[in-house]
Amino acid sequence: MISQGVKDMLKDRTAIITGSTSGIGLGIAETLAAAGATVMLNGFGDAVRIEEIRRNLAERHGVRVAYSGADLSKPAEVRLMVEQTAAELGAVDILVNNAGIQHVASIGEFPDDKWDAILAINLSVAFHAIKAVVPGMQERRWGRIVNIASAHGLVASTGKAAYVAAKHGVVGLTKVVALELANDGVTCNAICPGWVDTPLVERQVEAQAREAGMAVDQVRDELLREKQPMLAFTTPEEIGALAVFLCSDAAATMTGTALPIDGGWTAQ
Ligand code: NAD
Repeated sequence: MISQGVKDMLKDRTAIITGSTSGIGLGIAETLAAAGATVMLNGFGDAVRIEEIRRNLAERHGVRVAYSGADLSKPAEVRLMVEQTAAELGAVDILVNNAGIQHVASIGEFPDDKWDAILAINLSVAFHAIKAVVPGMQERRWGRIVNIASAHGLVASTGKAAYVAAKHGVVGLTKVVALELANDGVTCNAICPGWVDTPLVERQVEAQAREAGMAVDQVRDELLREKQPMLAFTTPEEIGALAVFLCSDAAATMTGTALPIDGGWTAQ
């Protein structure tokens, strides 16, 4: 298991992971908790299921885990989530901007409200959250900001105007924050996954299978073949392991990077 060998690496560090009730965010929460971090979960979902996730993480890893139901589309709630974390768990040392949504349509048909929502959740939330945590990180002279961008932060695909624009924006934001905080003990990096098997991708696969009258497994195969030389999905825990590395002392001078973890997608 990836998390073995990093136990206690992040002991005494408090981390917020946005959108951690599902998929990649949950994988990152799991891996950070396994490394000893105190964790603030966030995201939508069934309250009973979320409480189960919270308790399970805390018990298995012996760390404190809390939950914020902040709707990140509202900047005031982003700030409240940061305040709630400081009050319940301690000052924020690690911020993982992970929450994201997707909509696929060609540019002429792209709905205005989907454009606004994708830019808000996938890009503006990172700005508001970073702005809220940075003064404290600078004061304590330690901080790690990890933005979950995408291969689509580096290259484009058809049908994803808002997502590609937002993710390229996240990579740009990452670089500016890295430069501004270069001598403050705070690093800011972006992770750029290719295909990761999560509910977000499942929804795209099911929609495509319905439209094309194809089997779900066949669509999954074709998604990989179209983009990834390595015909395998990355797991949320593998993304989590990269996030833990970026939070470690070994990565103290890594900043402003956009790291692909994409089965060769962006090597082409
Ligand atoms: P997911 O749908 O499984 O999870 C998204 C999370 O964001 C959920 O916890 C959801 O509740 C939360 N969320 C959505 N809107 C929110 C809001 N307004 N307020 C609070 N929480 C909100 O998706 P995922 O595949 O795990 O994606 C996570 C991140 O990784 C996204 O930024 C996505 O763009 C990125 N990414 C995913 C893939 C992939 O193949 N799955 C590839 C590259 C990048």
